[in-house]
Amino acid sequence: MNETAAAARAGAALTIDLSALVANWRQLAARASASECAAVVKADAYGLGAESAARALAAAGCRTFFVATAGEGERIRAVAPRAIVYVLEGLPNGGARALAAARLRPVLASLEEIREWAAFGRAIGRRLPAALQFDTGMNRLGLSVRDAEAAATAAQDVDLTLTMSHFVCAQWAEDPRNARQIAAFEAARLSFPGVPASLCNSSGIFLGRKPHYDLLRPGYAIYGGNPTPGSPNPMRSVARLEAPVLATRRIEAGESVGYDGMWTATRPTRLATLGLGYGDGFPAAVAGPGRPAPEAIVAGRRCPIVGRVSMDFVMLDVTDVPEAAVYRGQTAELLGETIGVDELAERCGTIGYEILTRLGRRYERVYIGG
Ligand SMILES: *Cc1c(COP(=O)(O)O)cnc(C)c1O
Repeated sequence: MNETAAAARAGAALTIDLSALVANWRQLAARASASECAAVVKADAYGLGAESAARALAAAGCRTFFVATAGEGERIRAVAPRAIVYVLEGLPNGGARALAAARLRPVLASLEEIREWAAFGRAIGRRLPAALQFDTGMNRLGLSVRDAEAAATAAQDVDLTLTMSHFVCAQWAEDPRNARQIAAFEAARLSFPGVPASLCNSSGIFLGRKPHYDLLRPGYAIYGGNPTPGSPNPMRSVARLEAPVLATRRIEAGESVGYDGMWTATRPTRLATLGLGYGDGFPAAVAGPGRPAPEAIVAGRRCPIVGRVSMDFVMLDVTDVPEAAVYRGQTAELLGETIGVDELAERCGTIGYEILTRLGRRYERVYIGG
């Protein structure tokens, strides 16, 4: 059974191309060949499946992974037993024993966390590995640069394996904040001679060599997102979302489509109803002033989504596709090579990261290229 047949039979299907995912990771690694390339697999590998992604990346040579929570870390540990796994949320209050037992490394973000990790290490007689995160402009999580000396002192009983910070807007290469953040990170690093450093998310890798340091931390671009918005996407498409056409119908000009009658036909219109909706994680917020409607591809043609997205259904205007080319049981593509996550996100008034991470559990998931 090929993937398209699966979609027609079982409802909407999400196909995840692990060879494209690995190729993307390799491409990013090659852009900074002097640095190690890690992979950020938080939020279930941006919705695409943490175990499958981590297994494929580890087999390709990825040795370091970043997750958000200890629970996510344990899932990665199970499929990549020798990998280094950093937990971006840091050390939960009282969580040192569980993290150490799972051989996870917290990304410590405050003097309090450093002291707690150091104290637990002393209690079990081992200097435990951890990263230190400096906040250089996100104002989200991390030590202030002015606390770098105090952090170095507090971390004497910690095996510091990484210092890191995170870009606010690396996707805008010309933004002066990038250089300011690099300078602030440099200042923090002065207190940690010899400790490896990491600053680049996906977009940061494209800012040139200066911020590459020892370890890259891409996420989005591995999963096919465009790290250089405004320029062509250098990454391969990883996720393909397809849904079956459940029915077609004809309506007259003046008739509305879907809940609340948000869209009204201005001409005799042929509709195709697809079997997926916001209950699957497909964005509901599709109609927006001044935004072109999101589209799906049927019989090789782009067709606009019309009306509100329902929990289980999406309606397409297929008037311009030859009559015989659209029929019940056929497959429509909502995401893939042609309509990428960035385009879908823009047309839905959100970001590609959200599109990916919301991809629901109801789809049949098909992994290829593994
Ligand atoms: C999510 C995250 C990344 C990965 O960012 P992308 O833009 O997805 O490449 C890297 N570092 C930190 C601290 C993060 O939170």
